[in-house]
Amino acid sequence: MELNKLTIKEAAKLLKEKKITSLDLTKACFERINKLNKKLNAYISIFEKEGMGQARASDQRRVRGLSKSEIDGIPLAIKDNINIEGSLTTCGSSILSNYTSSFDATVIEKLKKTGAVFLGKTNMDEFAMGSSTETSYFGPTKNPWDISRVPGGSSGGSAAAVAADMCIGALGSDTGGSIRQPASLCGTVGLKPTYGMVSRYGLVAMASSLDQIGPITKTVEDAKILYKIIAGYDPMDSTSVKKAFSDQRLAVRNTKIGVPKEYFVKGMDKEVEKVIREAIKDFEKLGYKIVEVSLPYSRYALAVYYVIMPSEVSSNMARYDGIKYGMSEGQNLLDVYMKSRAEGLGDEVKRRIMLGTFALSSGYYDAYYLKAKKVQTKIKEDFDKAFEKADCLLTPTSPTVAFKINEKTSDPLTMYLSDIFTVPINIAGVPAISIPCGLANNMPVGLQIIGPQFGDQAILNIAQEYEQNTGQIGQRNWNI
Ligand code: GLN
Repeated sequence: MELNKLTIKEAAKLLKEKKITSLDLTKACFERINKLNKKLNAYISIFEKEGMGQARASDQRRVRGLSKSEIDGIPLAIKDNINIEGSLTTCGSSILSNYTSSFDATVIEKLKKTGAVFLGKTNMDEFAMGSSTETSYFGPTKNPWDISRVPGGSSGGSAAAVAADMCIGALGSDTGGSIRQPASLCGTVGLKPTYGMVSRYGLVAMASSLDQIGPITKTVEDAKILYKIIAGYDPMDSTSVKKAFSDQRLAVRNTKIGVPKEYFVKGMDKEVEKVIREAIKDFEKLGYKIVEVSLPYSRYALAVYYVIMPSEVSSNMARYDGIKYGMSEGQNLLDVYMKSRAEGLGDEVKRRIMLGTFALSSGYYDAYYLKAKKVQTKIKEDFDKAFEKADCLLTPTSPTVAFKINEKTSDPLTMYLSDIFTVPINIAGVPAISIPCGLANNMPVGLQIIGPQFGDQAILNIAQEYEQNTGQIGQRNWNI
């Protein structure tokens, strides 16, 4: 048995029955990482020594009957913008390439309490800005299904690590699609929780009003397990909400699924559309009622996103001044500011800082930022209306399958379009999950299930119903 191939659920069961040890499981993951990381570049940092130590400690707890949780001893991969005390948190950037975290993010603190093992930190677009993991200072991650293609982004390292069985499960972050789009392009499951459900404390901020941490896993069941651990109120995050879980299952025959007519756009890959239409039929066969809904303002979502997000980015990025964190170059104060930022930040990050600074500047603020915030309300209202007619919505996650490395790097606008179906969800603050639903041209296609605010458990349950009944999830017919 190749232990690194196990899901969280399977590994937890075998650990509990004492059929395997965490050390064996963790070793199998490191062997896989050592074999493939040169090829795929999924990890930026690998914690072999620490990880093995954590696994040994977990095994000792288990022998004494002192296991901390269901996932005690399960090895996970963490996106490199989530702080783990004492280890590098680079955010895929040169400016933080020597930055060691002085504290744990709340999600890490929670995972530590469960006894999880940390394998390493995964590659990502610089400061999570990108859709292909190509803007990383550490070079692009490759898609395990076809290494001439991107894994999506910005959590491409986590998605590739899960898809290639270089970990048992992973965490990513999502500001405009960075969990769901790479999950879709790599054939894994990825959940973007309702804004406020998972603490952002210790997640390096990109656009604070949109950022959320979430799981990237091999199955929906696994996403549920990780989500339950990381979600919950945190006084350290002022936008975190006090909301209890409700794992209540909606009866299938009473559940209505909305299909937004605006989400089958021109320019969408025909093969992808075919797979998505099939998946919608599968839901119908399972007994769900399909209704058409309309989200007319979604056509403005990308435009709104590319005003709000860079505005927040420009303000969040101001803290990288060459003094407080990471790289520091130059002779005097001004020189340090200018050189550290000029040399430490990449083109995409600079582009967004400039866009945001412009949108927020006096005289332009009303025309851009304020206008975008008003349209954001309209987009939210669209979703509220749609959820009066339907319990959840189905859309494609991405208009295409994974594209070739370098295909879109010279044209930022085409790159931005790959998030056309995921961005509106962050703008509306609602939850969405991407699940594998088939292949187009031998590459995975992801189906996005969107829920109303705080409907995280409901979409997980609906996705799980699909997973249990169709066998679409967990396909891994690639060969590297
Ligand atoms: N790809 C989108 C962007 O470039 C989303 C990024 C994200 O979700 N972090 O902004």
